[in-house]
Amino acid sequence: MSGISLEGVTKRYPGGVLAVKGVDIDIESGEFVTLVGPSGCGKTTTLRMIAGFETPTDGTVGIDGENVTDAPPYERDTGMVFQDFALFPHMTIDQNVAYGMEAAGEYTDEEIDARVAEMLELVELPDVGDRTPDQLSGGQQQRIALARALAPKPKALLLDEPLASLDKKLREQMQVELRRIQQEIGITTVFVTHNQEEALTMSDRLAVMNDGRFEQIGPPEEVYDDPDSRFVADFLGTANIFDGTVASVEDGYATVDCPDVTLQSTNPAGVEAGTEVSVVVRPERFRLRDASTDGGVGLDADGTNVFEGEVTFKRHLGSSVEFRLETDGGREIVVVRRSGLDELEPGDRTTVAIDAEDCRLVEA
Ligand code: ATP
Repeated sequence: MSGISLEGVTKRYPGGVLAVKGVDIDIESGEFVTLVGPSGCGKTTTLRMIAGFETPTDGTVGIDGENVTDAPPYERDTGMVFQDFALFPHMTIDQNVAYGMEAAGEYTDEEIDARVAEMLELVELPDVGDRTPDQLSGGQQQRIALARALAPKPKALLLDEPLASLDKKLREQMQVELRRIQQEIGITTVFVTHNQEEALTMSDRLAVMNDGRFEQIGPPEEVYDDPDSRFVADFLGTANIFDGTVASVEDGYATVDCPDVTLQSTNPAGVEAGTEVSVVVRPERFRLRDASTDGGVGLDADGTNVFEGEVTFKRHLGSSVEFRLETDGGREIVVVRRSGLDELEPGDRTTVAIDAEDCRLVEA
């Protein structure tokens, strides 16, 4: 097994589109890394440069410690799965899975038969070898596409939106399945998706892309809880974002003046009074508070951020409940509580509080 490294990788397409702007990442052997970002941000182009279907305009691509920047796809030992599965319709499932090994010309018939059976076992479809792709469901075809990519024992698995065409339930099932198979064989995997939930639930690390650059690379919980930028906070999950200006900085805490509220936040190094910032608050971090404690909106006596307002909306999300609160200043705040702690109803007035430590400060 082997790692993948990108150094200063840039892609300008003929015609002038600068799709990828000098990205760097070291992906460890056996790691599952997801490239996630909005449509057109350069995810597929980056993946295709790893696979060898596109050549970088600048920078280097390394696989297993070897510089493969100019190597054609067949010399890179990667297996790729596409959104549309791309199975060969006129071939049986056995023939589809055997295809890469046959093409390599390095294996005996016995080796190929054994490996095909092993791969069909791995994707839990041991009995479909004699069928053709049109005799399988969408989810089954996707498993076969995975088996076909893995059969020649590639050094890395490259997945371009492989679950996007499946319905929600099947997609969730395949997320678990794909991760199980990846962990079982320990293969280095790069997964492309624009689906933020998929990125957060499946990856060891994710690289959030925006406009051809990596905005942030890190484990899902870190990128979610501690976003580096307003873009990352907004793109991944739901965020309450308060734009304002730092009024003062003291003992690692910043006081931030926003148009409707003053907030206190933990302050990352380098942010000074006068800096324009965004304060990011995840909906799960709010606490409910007895409205009689302090009241009002903004900082209370012990420096906790409080908001008073009216519940305008409530919806159940399964194990949690989402509320929307309209503050007296006219701001909508999203609060998520565990089911069972959902005593509020639309029309109720309430006070919610958030600690400075749960207010993340990012540059605007
Ligand atoms: P999506 O999620 O919509 O697939 P993406 O993040 O994968 O988007 P890319 O497909 O990598 O984005 O495209 C990045 C940019 O490069 C876009 O502006 C796109 O229009 C442009 N682009 C992609 N392929 C080509 C091409 N062959 N020639 C010219 N421009 C291209």
